[in-house]
Amino acid sequence: MPEDRQAEAQPLAPGLYLVATPIGNLEDITLRALRVLTSADRIACEDTRQTQKLLNHFAIRTPTVSYHMHNEAPRTVELIEQLKHGARIAVVSDAGTPGIADPGSQIAAAAIAAGIPVYPIPGANAALSALIASGLSSERFTFHGFLPAKEGQRRTVLEHLSRTGETHIFYEAPHRIVGTLADIEVTFGPDQPIVLARELTKLHEEFLRGPVSELHAQLSARQSIRGEFVLLLAPAAADAAASPRSQSIAAEVAALMQSENLTEKDALKRVARERGIGKSEAYRELQREQNRLR
Ligand code: SAM
Repeated sequence: MPEDRQAEAQPLAPGLYLVATPIGNLEDITLRALRVLTSADRIACEDTRQTQKLLNHFAIRTPTVSYHMHNEAPRTVELIEQLKHGARIAVVSDAGTPGIADPGSQIAAAAIAAGIPVYPIPGANAALSALIASGLSSERFTFHGFLPAKEGQRRTVLEHLSRTGETHIFYEAPHRIVGTLADIEVTFGPDQPIVLARELTKLHEEFLRGPVSELHAQLSARQSIRGEFVLLLAPAAADAAASPRSQSIAAEVAALMQSENLTEKDALKRVARERGIGKSEAYRELQREQNRLR
């Protein structure tokens, strides 16, 4: 029998199961997720009423317990105690993958510390769904979760984003999206291409792609903005390549060692990161420069 069929036939092993649930379209639940949710002793839910709708839809009768940001610490202790006695506990969030901008990682860490097996049950996730259909590079990306609600702090985060060609992914609420677009326009300029993914996997799924100024104007003109957003932007790596650094790597490393009291290794790591190149590439270039000077 193939390995996955054998697993299906076995009773669920004791342990903690982090189960992804749909982000809109109920078809986006896996067969394995349904089996785990059906067979677990208990499902810890971010919102029991929300999850109950999903469980009712699939006729799953497993008991639920609340597990959210306000009771995460005491509930973790309680659930770990049950897991130590051989329980099978599933953790779900309201939508998507637990632990991604949602509760889940604290109990996973506690279970690992207690020697309890932790099983990921993969499935829907808004960030990755948006990324793969964005048309932006998915070779290197950073997921930042939500930007700060306050404009000043938001701009500071935006100003410090790397501009080395990687794709940045954010979650954003509908009532903040216009303000955030205004901040991106100021920080990156009106022509910065961005992608907005709204209502992913739902009936009114929408992808908006274009310069930030255009999408800002487009959303500002809407009477109401509904739905959940993923925002992606990829500052052009060409900027870095088009404006070659005036300083050599050796000079930048020396300046950092002096001004910030860094070791050569740490300074080189920083320079590599800022230039968007690997540490070994930066090291080889440093050696070449030093050899030229000898
Ligand atoms: N754990 C979830 C995941 O795996 O994607 C994310 C939970 S986070 C609290 C909720 C945010 O995810 C929303 O504010 C929105 O930015 C994004 N999101 C969730 N569902 C979405 C959807 N269907 N379309 C677009 N964005 C969504």
